[in-house]
Amino acid sequence: MSEPLDDMYRDIIMDHFRAPRGKQKLDHPDITSEGHNPACGDELEMQVELDNGTLKKIHVDCRGCAISVASGSMLAEIIKGRPLEEARRIAELVRKMLKGEEVELPDDLGDIDALRGVRQFPVRIKCALLSWVTLIEGLDNYEKGNKTTVKPATTEDDS
Ligand code: ZN
Repeated sequence: MSEPLDDMYRDIIMDHFRAPRGKQKLDHPDITSEGHNPACGDELEMQVELDNGTLKKIHVDCRGCAISVASGSMLAEIIKGRPLEEARRIAELVRKMLKGEEVELPDDLGDIDALRGVRQFPVRIKCALLSWVTLIEGLDNYEKGNKTTVKPATTEDDS
């Protein structure tokens, strides 16, 4: 990877970190989930409001490093407005991509390519994974009939 490309990715990540999307807390969430990344200390809370099986609104509150916050912000941007099944499919794809699998990502995933670079830094992979595993945990719980995750998602289960 060339140096200018790295700079561009860093700018995208810092832009999301400084002004994370999905800041607005929701009044009537249908799904609430939490996640944490013990490897770095990142903590994340997520709320989703559904409308006819579509993720109409999403709130992501991440207290952590630039990578974890940026990844959560990208998630909020990418996932908003998607049907449940599609949201899950994308989350699984991004998870595989971050873990180094060769996957074909759809073209409409915004800034997600900027996260590919973290794969060179194993410690950072879990930071980038945090929001996606928290979303998946929330969706799993919702399917089981729980509005709130029973136990927080953790990146430790995902290595
Ligand atoms: Zn982190």
